[in-house]
Amino acid sequence: MQDFIQTLIDNPIALYLIVGLFSLCIGSFLNVVILRTPKIMEQQWQQECKLLLHPEQPIIEQSKFTLSHPASSCPKCASPIRWYQNVPVLSWLLLRGKCGNCQNPISARYPFIEVLTAACSLLVVAVFGPGLQMLFGLFLTWALIALTFIDFDTQLLPDRFTLPLAALGLAINSASIYTSPTSAIWGYVIGFLCLWIVYYLFKLLTGKEGMGYGDFKLLAALGAWMGPFMLPLIVLLSSLVGAIIGIILLKVRQENQPFAFGPYIAIAGWIAFLWGEQIMKVYLGG
Ligand SMILES: [Zn+2]
Repeated sequence: MQDFIQTLIDNPIALYLIVGLFSLCIGSFLNVVILRTPKIMEQQWQQECKLLLHPEQPIIEQSKFTLSHPASSCPKCASPIRWYQNVPVLSWLLLRGKCGNCQNPISARYPFIEVLTAACSLLVVAVFGPGLQMLFGLFLTWALIALTFIDFDTQLLPDRFTLPLAALGLAINSASIYTSPTSAIWGYVIGFLCLWIVYYLFKLLTGKEGMGYGDFKLLAALGAWMGPFMLPLIVLLSSLVGAIIGIILLKVRQENQPFAFGPYIAIAGWIAFLWGEQIMKVYLGG
């Protein structure tokens, strides 16, 4: 194992190849996470509601959704997807974007998320080089991709992702992986509070809720990973990303679709994570 790791450190091409292929598979897994997490959460809410309303009734276990159960199947004809039809990107290309059984089109979003995951992962390798920063950076990248698409689809940033992500950021920075322990703690606190204050001011002035608690928790998590000095940049970048994506999606999106702020925070956070220091240098120096 040690020889293998040493080989990867000595051979950048091998490192890129392994991370690229591995992250394609992670992308394939993220597709499942993005699709199923909202369903799993909905299922749990329904059970909790039933339990609250009718505590005397025993819960009848339904066919439960988990990340691994049931096996992936075509959403149209429900025919199972075989392992050779589940190879990232390649299968989609070979099947020409259609189900092998019923010929109904399969969304191009699946191979897109796989390629996106691989591309972002390779950038993490390029920026950090082999080491712990790269390893944890890959993990953060994958988590942010999942959160971006889940929030985009459902306007939810599940606690089950944001809270462990914040905890992990605080834990690894106890060893100063990306920032000092003190800076990580303040990043977490200020990240949560600054959006929370905006939220209450907005609510006070307009009577509407502009964003959700998930947004605060995500920014708190990013603060825990990067420290408080990255937060202004993340907030600034997120409005820029929001404006750009808003223009791109203007034609695609239906009107009155709820507005999610989370994807923009996640994307801005990722950009700041990789290039924040350079951006700040140029910005503050120029
Ligand atoms: Zn089918």
